Amino acid sequence: MKIDMSYGSGGKQTGNLINEVFLKHFNNKTINKLEDAAVLNIKGKIAYTTDSFVVTPLFFKGGNIGKLAVCGTVNDLSMMGAVPRFLTSGFIIEEGAELEAIEQIAVSMALAAKEAGVRIVAGDTKVVEGNGGIYINTSGIGEIRKGGISISNCKPKDAIILSGNLGEHHAAILSHRMGIENQIASDCAPLCSIVKNLLDENIQVHCMRDVTRGGLATVLNEAADQSYCKVEIWEEVLPVSAQVRGFCDILGLDPLYMANEGKMIAVVPGSQAQKALQAVQKSKYGKNARIIGTVLEGRGVTMKTRLQGSRTIDVLYGEGLPRIC
Ligand code: MG
Repeated sequence: MKIDMSYGSGGKQTGNLINEVFLKHFNNKTINKLEDAAVLNIKGKIAYTTDSFVVTPLFFKGGNIGKLAVCGTVNDLSMMGAVPRFLTSGFIIEEGAELEAIEQIAVSMALAAKEAGVRIVAGDTKVVEGNGGIYINTSGIGEIRKGGISISNCKPKDAIILSGNLGEHHAAILSHRMGIENQIASDCAPLCSIVKNLLDENIQVHCMRDVTRGGLATVLNEAADQSYCKVEIWEEVLPVSAQVRGFCDILGLDPLYMANEGKMIAVVPGSQAQKALQAVQKSKYGKNARIIGTVLEGRGVTMKTRLQGSRTIDVLYGEGLPRIC
């Protein structure tokens, strides 16, 4: 069944959409009350963030826009050393969207939220003229477990840990759009269990950031710039799957600039590097983690190449891949 403008009227059809799709799947005592706002118990300092999701296609290998909308916000909270607790979900739906697709998206959001240990406690739905598009905004609140983790807190002699293979989300979306048949799936995943394992092991994490749009190259430049340090990475240890490597070779893409949705860097004191690596690797989404580089005095990002050369790694210029998340 297709959504028409009556679903956005605020009347009976809107009520049906809310009750039979969103409340049915998000189902918790806070959202079920249907108050004007969620009333929440929160202890101490919070992290608070928002992100909007416009990915196309809506469904892709490894996930869909709903899973992405939950994981993206959960991950941004996690990167600040927060335990994600509550999310809100705002849907902007173009007329012509399929009700069944919206329900599948809501089911994925509920599953991802359950895995990440968050509750979706408030929501909103609008219907606009258009051509079947669906856009989602999520905001999230997390309780700070360890303060001081910051992109401006990297220090010389720190080790840089990357939680797994590069480029998978980007390659999955691009493969779908180009009609290329392969097994590459998006890496879209909640990273809170990696952060939990790091903090449970008492790692003195200086900085964490999820590796999303702009890729690893952009994240490392942000860290170097904002921490007034130099970052050096080592090409031969960068994890990239054979499938993604092949895909990149054919299309002339560089995994350093490709988007991920379930990867992060953790910058930790060099003395704790091995312990931190083990903590990441024992996490469900960190099995292929590597120590990929180090922080030095200086500025900028360089990569030691396989042939022992040195290459300057700049930020991503231009568009990258539009509507990737
Ligand atoms: Mg982020």
